[in-house]
Amino acid sequence: MKKVHLQKGKKIMVGLIVGMLTLGIFLGGCTTPSAPTSGPTPKLEAFTPGEALASDQMRISFMGTSFLPRIAQQCNSVFVELGNGDSFVFDFGSGVSSKYVAMGIPPSRMDKVFLTHLHGDHVSDLITLYCFGPSQDRKTPLYLYGPTGDTPDEGTVAFAANLKSLMKWHEEAFSFLPTGLKTGGDGYDIVAKELPYMTVGGVAYEANGVKITHFPAVHDRNGSISYKLEWNGLSMVFSGDTRPNNYMVEQAKGVDVLIHEMVVPPDVWAMKNSGIKPGEPNWQQALSAATAVQNSSHTPQKALGYIFSQTTPRLGVATHFQVNEDTTGPALNDIRSWYKDPVAIAIDGLVINVSKSEIRQRMAVLDDYSWYPKPKITPPDQLAPAKYDGPYAQLNDTLLGSVIPDTVYMTTP
Ligand SMILES: [Zn+2]
Ligand SMILES: [Zn+2]
Repeated sequence: MKKVHLQKGKKIMVGLIVGMLTLGIFLGGCTTPSAPTSGPTPKLEAFTPGEALASDQMRISFMGTSFLPRIAQQCNSVFVELGNGDSFVFDFGSGVSSKYVAMGIPPSRMDKVFLTHLHGDHVSDLITLYCFGPSQDRKTPLYLYGPTGDTPDEGTVAFAANLKSLMKWHEEAFSFLPTGLKTGGDGYDIVAKELPYMTVGGVAYEANGVKITHFPAVHDRNGSISYKLEWNGLSMVFSGDTRPNNYMVEQAKGVDVLIHEMVVPPDVWAMKNSGIKPGEPNWQQALSAATAVQNSSHTPQKALGYIFSQTTPRLGVATHFQVNEDTTGPALNDIRSWYKDPVAIAIDGLVINVSKSEIRQRMAVLDDYSWYPKPKITPPDQLAPAKYDGPYAQLNDTLLGSVIPDTVYMTTP
């Protein structure tokens, strides 16, 4: 595929997003490694949720970009929409539901979720997605794709069954509403497809011209994977969490957008996460814990530059990275020591449109007080009857008898 290097040679780095600044500002950096954070500070263009997507484009929206929950960066999730109308969720960490709501994405468009691994920062908002989908517009099962474990009870099928079981009270409580279709299937069903974690290039999903494959990631313990989506001559890879590895170098070569995790150096991690400074009591303990986590699980900044240099994506995007004024510059320096072409560091709300001729980055303008988006309407005659006969069916007579009648308070004294 012909490579297009955005703004190359103009001394404007494409999209280093700095969360501490006003939303949508990015620090311009040079394409040379010597002065990566100098230069102009133009704003990224605004993206307004609800914009139609051209039939030949892919749009990637970052809904969560961190491993720890922060106001500007919730935990991990990426939403991929295609011009054929299909849409796919990759990971679903804590806090991202609010971002999907603000982006105007109804649950019916979030019914296929691809999990890279079962760490809490990648799955924890699935409770919200599972519980509130059927009471809105997802009257069909939630499809969960994810890795096997070394034992059945560690895999995605067991995870899905446990999620359903965990939320039984919620499921019953909302089942006075129609949650399924007459033709079969119910919003409170979960269909889990387990993907063998050691398979390279295994097919996770293939339909409607879309192919999603998976390959091993190296992260913490056996059972993490990365994904590659291909459609209409466009492609993207989502690493999930991983050490820099050769599967990635092989599978992500020449991809249009490579979304890859990155971490700050261990001493920065230790200081930021523990508040302990070098030389203070327990510093060595904090540092060695951070080092151990990173050595078993994550990708250092220079390593990501190396990965980009070996795969040469049209756009490389770092994520799972805590964006601060004092973290992004050094990170970019390290990436630039290996790789000079366009890269971005994601925060929540980064939106990337991908076509064969252009990769366009914008920042979503999100309403802090949004409501649920417009639902997909299922004709009432297609809905299966509700399980319970009305909203009072699950309350006993004693509880119902304790309710203060509205005649008492509707007439003001
Ligand atoms: Zn993570
Ligand atoms: Zn993880």
